[in-house]
Amino acid sequence: MQKFDPYLNVDPGTLNPFQHGEVYVLDDGTETDLYLGHYERFTHCQLSKVNSLTSGKIYERVLKKERHGDYLGETVQLIPHVTDEIKQHIRDANPDVDIVITEIGGTVGDIEGLPFLEALRQLASELPREDILFIHVTLVPYLKAAGELKTKPSQQSVAKLREIGIQPDVIVCRTEYDLPKTLRQKLSLFCNVPVSAVIEAKDVASIYELPLRLHAEKADQFIVDRLQLTTSAPLIKQWQNIVWRLQHTTHQLSIAVVGKYISLNDAYKSVFEALTHAGITHGVCIQVKKIDSETITQDTIALHLENVDGILIPGGFGARGIEGKILAVAYARKHQIPYFGLCLGLQIAIIEFARNVADLQDANSTEFDLQTSHPVITMMAEQHTIKGKGGSKGGSMRLGAYTCRLEQKSLAIQAYGKGIIQERHRHRYELNNQYRTILEEKGMRMTGINHERNLVEIIELCNHPWFVAVQFHPEFQSKPTQAHPLFAAFVEASLAYHKARIVN
Ligand code: GLN
Repeated sequence: MQKFDPYLNVDPGTLNPFQHGEVYVLDDGTETDLYLGHYERFTHCQLSKVNSLTSGKIYERVLKKERHGDYLGETVQLIPHVTDEIKQHIRDANPDVDIVITEIGGTVGDIEGLPFLEALRQLASELPREDILFIHVTLVPYLKAAGELKTKPSQQSVAKLREIGIQPDVIVCRTEYDLPKTLRQKLSLFCNVPVSAVIEAKDVASIYELPLRLHAEKADQFIVDRLQLTTSAPLIKQWQNIVWRLQHTTHQLSIAVVGKYISLNDAYKSVFEALTHAGITHGVCIQVKKIDSETITQDTIALHLENVDGILIPGGFGARGIEGKILAVAYARKHQIPYFGLCLGLQIAIIEFARNVADLQDANSTEFDLQTSHPVITMMAEQHTIKGKGGSKGGSMRLGAYTCRLEQKSLAIQAYGKGIIQERHRHRYELNNQYRTILEEKGMRMTGINHERNLVEIIELCNHPWFVAVQFHPEFQSKPTQAHPLFAAFVEASLAYHKARIVN
């Protein structure tokens, strides 16, 4: 599966989450669009850098070749040089797969998306007809005043595609209401596809209902027939099981997620999805209480957190909202509420513990205060050199999968059920090893260590029922079919806390 984005950033690593949602990280350290998270959650794909492409990356490559003299005096042009580069990227996609699915971001008609569509048009004329299929996703809006669904935007965008030279084979219609037969016939006529290729994609309560809906629309059968593939019957049992579990929950848990970009759902997409997966595992409905860390003060903290069953602090960058997050961790620690810290959530937990338990008054991360007398979180030596060399922000982080060894008798090893794990990273700072002993003496356990670099990856608190914080991003490896072990354990602990809270 591939996602092509027409914007000019080389990768989405430096994009503001408010504009673009979370940055999703792959095992090989590629920073990608959050859609790749969906691809990994819905399939067994092992994605890598070949699965994500932006116009920025394409142009970077073409210009490098030009400077290198690879085009031997030719005039370098959008067609064929840029389009060739795009086609090559599709052809190079994982060599051991039977089918490549390439999603083009943006909207038909966008100027910056044109080279991608032109490349696809060329590809279609180079490949046998049964080897390529176009699926066009379109919106069928409902006009409240007229009380009807409108096909006009779909007719327009299909006309635009045909102008470019692409005839879609399947029209997937995003809609709030059922598509009546007459409308399907109309779309079929105007868009030049059989009625069976007009697929309804109605809004669903959970995104995990979609595979079943598309199956009911026989989208899978149409695609398989059109590509002349021989396949066994689709395995829909596990999707039925997931949907059943989502609809039949026993308890409702309130989990506080304290973050800076909390007003935008997509900024913590994988975290919310991973909580849902853990809810599926334990048969509970997770109500996420989104708290903007900047609204947390000594006076408001109890109001925010007194009725929650678990507190989670996700990743983040920059000093804004940090003190509110420190108050939230302190609240979880003192009130024995299950706490789960992810990346920045670990660093905050360490700062809080250093200040309030180890009595290191102005302990801080050098990311937020360079003058602190107790830099319990500092920049990793290797990141210094990366920054020093290039001086650029993009690509100066510890990225991708690293190995971590878990301590015996820890909550972590209990959750994973094994001693060696691999998790994905995206950060510049880490626990300063000089403070390890003093923190341990005060009751913090370092339960996950990266031995090659001697880095602390997981911390836990001795005098707390469930307090786990990790330097990595477990949310990137959670699936609806298999919740991430730490998310599952966190929700289990929150359920126990919830039950005790209700009794009292
Ligand atoms: N800002 C912190 C760092 O760079 C945490 C990053 C994160 O949460 N992904 O180390």
